[in-house]
Amino acid sequence: MCDKVREDFLPYGRQWIDDEDIAAVVEVLKSDYLTTGPVIAQFEEKLKEVTGAQYAVALSNGTAALHAACFAAGIKEGDEVITSPMTFAATANAVLYCGGKPVFADICPDTYNINPEEIKRKITDKTKAIIPVHYTGQPCDMDEIMKIAEEYNLLVIEDGAHALGASYKGKMIGNIGDMTTFSFHPVKPVTTGEGGAVTTNNKDFYEKLLLFRSHGITRDADKLLKDEGTWYYEQQILGYNYRMTDIQAALGCSQLNKLDYFLEKRREYAKLYNDAFKDCEGVIRPRQLPDTLSGWHLYVLQLDLDKIRPDRRVIFDELRIHNIGVNVHYIPVYYHPYYQKLGYQRGLCPEAEKLYERIISLPLFPKMTKEDIMYVIKCVKEIIGVYIKR
Ligand SMILES: *Cc1c(COP(=O)(O)O)cnc(C)c1O
Repeated sequence: MCDKVREDFLPYGRQWIDDEDIAAVVEVLKSDYLTTGPVIAQFEEKLKEVTGAQYAVALSNGTAALHAACFAAGIKEGDEVITSPMTFAATANAVLYCGGKPVFADICPDTYNINPEEIKRKITDKTKAIIPVHYTGQPCDMDEIMKIAEEYNLLVIEDGAHALGASYKGKMIGNIGDMTTFSFHPVKPVTTGEGGAVTTNNKDFYEKLLLFRSHGITRDADKLLKDEGTWYYEQQILGYNYRMTDIQAALGCSQLNKLDYFLEKRREYAKLYNDAFKDCEGVIRPRQLPDTLSGWHLYVLQLDLDKIRPDRRVIFDELRIHNIGVNVHYIPVYYHPYYQKLGYQRGLCPEAEKLYERIISLPLFPKMTKEDIMYVIKCVKEIIGVYIKR
């Protein structure tokens, strides 16, 4: 269809690793500490700078970060936690790890983020927390969400996996709710291979996160119940080994030096897509709220199924044939067989379900070239053009 199919596969997301990153990792490999050394603290300092939060805790991955945050929030058996179905399963899984029950609130049909009105509808006397997900990097309506949390005495844990460097009304993501979690998987805004973090302004949460990260063990003299000698430490709660290595943290530090540049590239490319699809019949662009600055982790194009003949699958497969690594973010979490077995029914969140039928994530990452973007635009337009109803 596009006269020439590119030879190499263009993924939807990919890391950017340069010589500086490699040198930073090699330096740690030659040092005394491979894990739990000084570079973890350096990485956490940098995360505090980027987000403006008072505390940051590095963890082994973004899922561990969500688990740790749910633990620190005190989520336990019988508690309900409201979150979006339009997310990676890990967001809701973290609630299950703690014995809690994820309750899905539907999304806004224009921003695709959790709808504050729907959150309100799902609140019961068992609700303990809300986990808004800054889907694609665009911040949720945090003023409304914080207002609801205050009114009903709920904690807010933001899933910021897509949104490092994004801001809401001038405030950085990571410095708004009670805790914010991040992921440093290779497709995310910056990478440590595997990695995650929680930021918070609450010292109590911070201390719980530290304990949880390392088996529930403390060596802090002020916290020990006894003093049996300088070797002495105590396991005070049941924690995990969710530590990040210094090797990863070194990569993270080096990557954070490039975050502004990465974001600039993502925003530039998103604008190219937005401009190109402005008057393109058959597709709907992702709406951005005027008071948010997205991290543009994903560019999600919605198909206007009233205007084109086939379903999403046909368009998706055509794009794949053209070596474009399109993807779908996300399958509503409760569609997964595991959640169906838990008793969640289809039909729960109609807006999210409708969106799921229509979305395609286009390639968007800093390392791609303007030519790559232009190739995607050309293929999308040509393919849509063939299938448009006339
Ligand atoms: C990637 C991601 C996670 C999980 O992070 P990992 O580092 O892969 O464990 C959680 N939530 C969202 C929204 C994500 O995109």
